[in-house]
Amino acid sequence: MSQPDVAVVGGGLIGRCLAWRVSRCGARVALYDSADSQGMNSAAWAAAGMIAPTTEVIDSDAQISSMGANSLKLWPQWLAELPIPVFYRDNGTLLLWHVEDTGEAARAQSMLTSRQSQLCVRYLEGSQVADVEPELGSRFPRALYVPAEAQVDNRGFLKAVGLALEEAGVESHWETAIDDSNRPDAGIVVDCRGMGAKSDLRSLRGVRGEIVRLHAPEIQLSHMLRLLHPRYPVYVVPRSEGQLVVGATAFESDDRSPASVRGILELLTSAYSIIPALAEARILEFNTQVRPALPNNQPAILFDPERRILRLNGLYRHGFLLTPTIVEEVLGLLSGRSSGRWPCLNVNCSVASFGLLNTSAEMQKW
Ligand SMILES: Cc1cc2nc3c(=O)[nH]c(=O)nc-3n(C[C@H](O)[C@H](O)[C@H](O)COP(=O)(O)OP(=O)(O)OC[C@H]3O[C@@H](n4cnc5c(N)ncnc54)[C@H](O)[C@@H]3O)c2cc1C
Repeated sequence: MSQPDVAVVGGGLIGRCLAWRVSRCGARVALYDSADSQGMNSAAWAAAGMIAPTTEVIDSDAQISSMGANSLKLWPQWLAELPIPVFYRDNGTLLLWHVEDTGEAARAQSMLTSRQSQLCVRYLEGSQVADVEPELGSRFPRALYVPAEAQVDNRGFLKAVGLALEEAGVESHWETAIDDSNRPDAGIVVDCRGMGAKSDLRSLRGVRGEIVRLHAPEIQLSHMLRLLHPRYPVYVVPRSEGQLVVGATAFESDDRSPASVRGILELLTSAYSIIPALAEARILEFNTQVRPALPNNQPAILFDPERRILRLNGLYRHGFLLTPTIVEEVLGLLSGRSSGRWPCLNVNCSVASFGLLNTSAEMQKW
């Protein structure tokens, strides 16, 4: 390929998606990743794949939630454009708490109602909880139900986008680490290396997360479950073929060493307190990854005009929640438009920065 219009460095979550969406617009794209095409080295590989804009309000900025709600509309469209089906379920989330943690539930409920009045949260009582999720029986006399939330099979999605890249003729360079010494030539380089960009983004920090995959085909869950707890706020995400994802710890650290006994004990004890039948579940995997976070825990689009590098980073715990919205915004920027809808994206450049690209015939199709 002659010099591509766009070189994407980092083919984890956002880089892989950006390469796919840019190539669909007719641009010549090259993608580089230090690991192989499965994406096993990325935070995206470990993630639970929840797209939960309402629930995230409890611990995040309201803007994150608005961007997430926008992504929730884009996800089904994106998945429909992939060459293979990807498990996606949009039955919503049940927020649960033990009686002694009623205070935690009250805090969550007040955050939800004050910040998200436009989004639907239903308070369930008595048999209503088991009506929505029979597997819970009568263990939880109260719950909050957030119907408009979804989850996607993270690994199936990475695979499907990888195939879409091949179909689109994206020049993919797997197992090719990129740094300043071998930066590719391209109209523009987009740095999507997550934690791999630490040496260029000094304020980037890691938030270590441990997560467990279980096999429990006898447990029939149809919703994501989140336990509201002051210390162990675990979630259980039901996947296809009897798999459950239980996560995740959060420590301020970029240590990617294997999961700790403490982390796993806390996760599994907490999950078992929701569903005692998990005692017989089989453990398929422990995994550890690091969420790339900026000081304000919000994503950023940062342009370095001298080196013509656009950096997308800081997706923190919101990669699946935010990626479609951020990618669409970046497509707009590259084509000389900006929606200006998302102040928390921390865009440090104006569309004028991308004048060169706009002269290319391909780019004008965007
Ligand atoms: C345990 C856990 C659970 C999570 N659950 C959720 C969830 O339910 N919902 C949600 O929205 N988010 C979740 N997240 C967050 C989400 O996974 C991240 O926000 C997202 O993956 C970040 O995307 P990224 O593309 O920036 O980084 P990554 O996905 O980490 O991808 C970075 C890529 O860059 C590559 N790379 C690194 N250095 C180089 C180099 N020098 N040259 C070339 N390539 C390089 C890596 O190999 C990797 O493929 C979770 C994260 C963790 C750890």
